[in-house]
Amino acid sequence: MKEIFIKKPTYQVMVGSVPVGGGSPIVVQSMTNTDTADIQKTVEQVFDLWKAGSEIVRVTVNNEASADAIPHIIEGLQKRNCHVPIVGDFHFNGHKLLQAYPECAKLLAKYRINPGNVGKGSRRDEQFEAMIAIAKTYDKPVRIGVNWGSLDQVKLAAMMDENAKLKMPLPSDALMREALIQSALESAEQAVSWGLQKNKIVISCKVSVVQDLILIYQELAKRTSYPLHLGLTEAGMGSKGIVASTAALAILLQQGIGDTIRVSLTPTPDESRTNEVVVAQEILQTMGIRSFTPLVTACPGCGRTTSTYFQELALEIQTFLRESMPQWKDTFPGVEDMSVAVMGCVVNGPGESKLANIGISLPGTGEIPVAPVFVDGEKTVTLKGDKIAHEFKAIVMNYVESHYSKLK
Ligand code: SF4
Repeated sequence: MKEIFIKKPTYQVMVGSVPVGGGSPIVVQSMTNTDTADIQKTVEQVFDLWKAGSEIVRVTVNNEASADAIPHIIEGLQKRNCHVPIVGDFHFNGHKLLQAYPECAKLLAKYRINPGNVGKGSRRDEQFEAMIAIAKTYDKPVRIGVNWGSLDQVKLAAMMDENAKLKMPLPSDALMREALIQSALESAEQAVSWGLQKNKIVISCKVSVVQDLILIYQELAKRTSYPLHLGLTEAGMGSKGIVASTAALAILLQQGIGDTIRVSLTPTPDESRTNEVVVAQEILQTMGIRSFTPLVTACPGCGRTTSTYFQELALEIQTFLRESMPQWKDTFPGVEDMSVAVMGCVVNGPGESKLANIGISLPGTGEIPVAPVFVDGEKTVTLKGDKIAHEFKAIVMNYVESHYSKLK
């Protein structure tokens, strides 16, 4: 991690084999949207998320069928050589499901508990304690995951009453933020009082408004050393979801806040769930925090680009690099830091190409139809004709093999 990111020290929590907090790299995680009881579909989606780079995957465990499915899902994944830690997301009936399905409790890598809907009234503490007892039995960590949409209303009402008596009452949005923070921290302290170790707790306080999320996590980071799971909840679809999540997460990450991130995008019906993993990785990588896959620098194109060829080449190269990563990860260590530039003309093309490990500058309007290629800042070859894409890919592949091979 670059020196500009001064991380606040947190406890290290092991989620299966993945460390969260305590100075370990910021972890990318995601969540399925299949019916967990549909074993085949859930295995398929977890596998895809993992292949895309999700290091932890959460599944909802909302009923007996889904609790019963967990061992089968994990078995199905292991058959495909996928050992990604699976987290169970529990709400109202989590205590009952974990008690009734010990294999599910044993095989999950972490339990997500929402203190706002773990139980009502006097049952709340009893049911929460039952879940913590099971976590202790199986030596599992938990995430105390508070969410604005399911904030403990009794707690909020009591805080509002107290607030109204103050000479200078807090504005309602500040009170809401404080209620979320207190709900998370008090629930964590309860869990500790029942014997859960501090290095078994991750905290999250998710809201859907960017500025509120930033203020809440800045405050959490001051008040606690539990690792923090960052995410803007209900971020939305398409560019809105991506922009809102990036705006919130980037500011917090820049301040050294956050140990694991999830980008909660609403996929369009034909969109892959894995996009949320790509976005999370790209936030970390473009900020210089962690590298996952070689990135393509491409100019936006303008009136000097005569056809869509340049866009097609940039897309083809980015897709080729991303799809190659699952195989390259082990064979070519360090390749994730490689940069490739695909530029539309000679105005900025050679300059950007020289800065990248490999760069190509395609011919713009009125330019000679040739494409100079730069490798480590030096012009090596000029491509022409209709096989430019094919030849450029071969140059990239050759660079990867000669610079990152383990056997070198
Ligand atoms: S590099 Fe050339 S094609 Fe690309 S935006 Fe700049 S001027 Fe336009």
